[in-house]
Amino acid sequence: MDSIRFNFPAPAIDDSVDSLRMDVRSFLQEEIRNGSFRPGTDCWCAGIDPEFSRKLGERGWIGVTWPKQYGGRELSALHRYVITEELLVAGAPVHAHWIADRQSGPLILATGSEEMKQTILPRIAAGECFVALGLSEPESGSDLASVRTRAHRVEGGWEITGTKLWSSGAQSCQYMTVLARTGERNEKKRHEGLTQFLVPLDSPGVTVRGIRDMSGVEHFNESHFEKVFVADDAVLGSVGEGWKQITSELALERSGPERFLSTFVALEKSIQQGAASMEGHQARVVGSILARIRALRAMSLGVAALLGQGQSPDVEAALVKDLGTRLEQDIIERLREFWPIQLKQNFGDELQYLLSDSLLRQPSFTLRGGTNEVLKGIVARGMGLR
Ligand SMILES: Cc1cc2nc3c(=O)[nH]c(=O)nc-3n(C[C@H](O)[C@H](O)[C@H](O)COP(=O)(O)OP(=O)(O)OC[C@H]3O[C@@H](n4cnc5c(N)ncnc54)[C@H](O)[C@@H]3O)c2cc1C
Repeated sequence: MDSIRFNFPAPAIDDSVDSLRMDVRSFLQEEIRNGSFRPGTDCWCAGIDPEFSRKLGERGWIGVTWPKQYGGRELSALHRYVITEELLVAGAPVHAHWIADRQSGPLILATGSEEMKQTILPRIAAGECFVALGLSEPESGSDLASVRTRAHRVEGGWEITGTKLWSSGAQSCQYMTVLARTGERNEKKRHEGLTQFLVPLDSPGVTVRGIRDMSGVEHFNESHFEKVFVADDAVLGSVGEGWKQITSELALERSGPERFLSTFVALEKSIQQGAASMEGHQARVVGSILARIRALRAMSLGVAALLGQGQSPDVEAALVKDLGTRLEQDIIERLREFWPIQLKQNFGDELQYLLSDSLLRQPSFTLRGGTNEVLKGIVARGMGLR
């Protein structure tokens, strides 16, 4: 068998990247000092604060890689990487704009109409417009090609009917990218006949209902579309090409630092709190976690470098997400050996607040964005083993 190679190039990090990191870090320290937010675990999914997103937009820290004519700054994928990394380690409430910045904006840029680019992208970059992901459905998760939401051609556009499930943050979003079946379902060609639409969530016929998770947060939603009309120019890309578009979004969705830093804020707090007494077994455990974070960071930066070169490293991204999400769960499992977690409602103690919130949120890490079993299948296929 041929040897199998993964490609994780080490990117060159220049002064402008470091200086941007320092700007973001000092802004966040100032915000924490002013009480603008309480650092939280899994902040990129649980922390929704549109006002905070607007502040980031004002500073030019959303959509940084996009062309200037659409509100971007034409910076590199690495500039975006350090912004996201600083936001995550600070536990900042960034969910409102996260998906639009990470993948819906790039999707609009690649497949949207000129009008969509001119009107929507600058608003996303300003932190004023947010987009939810409408992929999963009650009977379709891992097997996305089985989606039952349908879009029928009508005069001047399309009529969409169906239900999307688990759409993170949809309650604060103005739009959702909806994957719908536009062609007949053919069991032999299951990935054909699917189309993506950008649907305004204030359209008649749309209802968005929050679903409470076990940490008590209503971050994801069930969204129902009942004969929702969208004009022809709501189609993203070409009719019937939705599957290809979704798969090209996956490297963006799966490789970022949010796939291994969701519980970092709890780790950092526990190190600060226990640093003076940490020795022996405890020091070894924390040391091995830090070594794994370092390795994952190198891999994730490698994917960012490949994305910056215009490549779509899906297999490497799947590997980062599989290893990273297991690490962020392990962090909490290992820390609770030393800091038993008490689940209660009102916390004065920051470490207990972060640990208990992480414990309740961690089962979702290896599900969202594709389960680890599915990711292993992608990696195996990429290695030529399936
Ligand atoms: C916090 C959170 C946020 C989310 N946000 C969004 C969102 O914004 N938008 C959106 O569209 N979706 C979202 N999702 C949905 C998520 O993408 C799905 O939960 C995920 O893809 C799994 O689908 P499912 O829940 O239907 O599980 P299923 O697909 O039913 O899987 C059940 C089990 O079977 C296993 N399994 C399934 N197929 C295979 C296979 N081929 N080989 C091996 N094992 C398999 C899975 O690994 C899993 O363990 C979110 C989920 C969570 C938890």
